[in-house]
Amino acid sequence: MISVIGAGPAGSFYAQQAMRLHKKNHQDTDIHLFEEHRIVGHPVACTGILTDSVKSVLPRIPKDLVVSKINRFKIVAPNGKSIYIDLNKTNLVLDRARFDQYLYEKAVDAGARVHLGEKFLGYKKIGKNQYLLKTNKQSYTTDMIVGADGPQSSVAKAAGIASNRKFILGLQVRTKYPDLEEGTTIIHLNRGEFSWIVPESRTVARVGVVGVNNKKLHADYRALVGNAKIIAHQSGIIPVYNPKQLLRKPREDIFLLGDAATMVKASTYGGIIYGLLAGSYLAEDKETYVKRFNEKLGRDLWISLKMREYMNAMTTKQADELIAIFEKQENAKVLAAHDRDFPSKFIVQLLMKEAKLWKLGFQIFGEKLKK
Ligand SMILES: Cc1cc2nc3c(=O)[nH]c(=O)nc-3n(C[C@H](O)[C@H](O)[C@H](O)COP(=O)(O)OP(=O)(O)OC[C@H]3O[C@@H](n4cnc5c(N)ncnc54)[C@H](O)[C@@H]3O)c2cc1C
Repeated sequence: MISVIGAGPAGSFYAQQAMRLHKKNHQDTDIHLFEEHRIVGHPVACTGILTDSVKSVLPRIPKDLVVSKINRFKIVAPNGKSIYIDLNKTNLVLDRARFDQYLYEKAVDAGARVHLGEKFLGYKKIGKNQYLLKTNKQSYTTDMIVGADGPQSSVAKAAGIASNRKFILGLQVRTKYPDLEEGTTIIHLNRGEFSWIVPESRTVARVGVVGVNNKKLHADYRALVGNAKIIAHQSGIIPVYNPKQLLRKPREDIFLLGDAATMVKASTYGGIIYGLLAGSYLAEDKETYVKRFNEKLGRDLWISLKMREYMNAMTTKQADELIAIFEKQENAKVLAAHDRDFPSKFIVQLLMKEAKLWKLGFQIFGEKLKK
């Protein structure tokens, strides 16, 4: 029996892929998916925006899950100057609760056995790769445990591999909002570590800001939301990617996936696509999972982390300069053409085109990419 803890996107997608591959290989495996909530997908703490690279894992996302589409970004500098970046490939804004339910239903259809309202409490090793898993309802003997249980992963803690992870807070509301441009996400560079106004329609937006939970973050949040009429609060915590985070407990069949493994890109704090990709790697081969994840995605997560550290240290003047650099059409074109989920694909091109980025300290990325 394989026990998957958490029916978020990472856990449900892994369960579905693993069931599918085990059936294909005529392996008789029981996969059990445990979710502490009775209803999958709630409470929502996410903007639900996905870049086009989601298609590499989910080629067809049903239309009824898509609330709106984004085809350009408006980036506003601290001095009020703004630029537009037109995206070559549309981003999707999903109904996040329905998206989780969709992936969960696919896991059920593939044959995973599900336990809603059942919370993982811990486990005890009872033999070589044999564990006694304890929930709030009963105990199970299991051969493998997959922790897809979000930022505060109880599996990571029980296995002693939670590392000293850091968290930041994402404050978000779904709200009525004035003067929205359909299809345009607005990013204010001087609010929190990262902020967004993502339109669902001409009158409703998902508005949020992330950062360290302090007075400035709350003040930035209030400045963004203003007097807008709030429809729902959707805040949550986000783990900061830790390159030293173990994805597997050494010599055991205990694995971590998604936010539980801090797989969040720190540049814009998106984690869904990385969790899905990791789920597919683990389903394909647990023995190569760690190496494959680190080789394929570790570098992009590292670059995103450094981009974030750089942006956090940026002065107001540097932020204004950065906007001026991307005002140039040839630089904006590079951003428009590439997926922000995988910065390694465009950083080198930008460094080659724009000497001013070197002056702003971007050479650290070039040095990493040469390795
Ligand atoms: C405000 C905000 C906005 C965001 N916007 C975006 C965005 O636009 N795009 C993007 O890609 N990412 C975004 N993210 C990040 C994204 O939400 C996460 O990266 C994503 O949800 C991670 O998926 P997951 O399956 O790893 O974990 P989760 O979605 O956290 O799922 C974990 C599941 O495990 C369950 N669970 C936890 N503990 C237990 C237990 N002990 N027993 C049983 N079940 C348990 C939980 O109930 C939950 O259902 C945002 C985050 C925040 C806070």
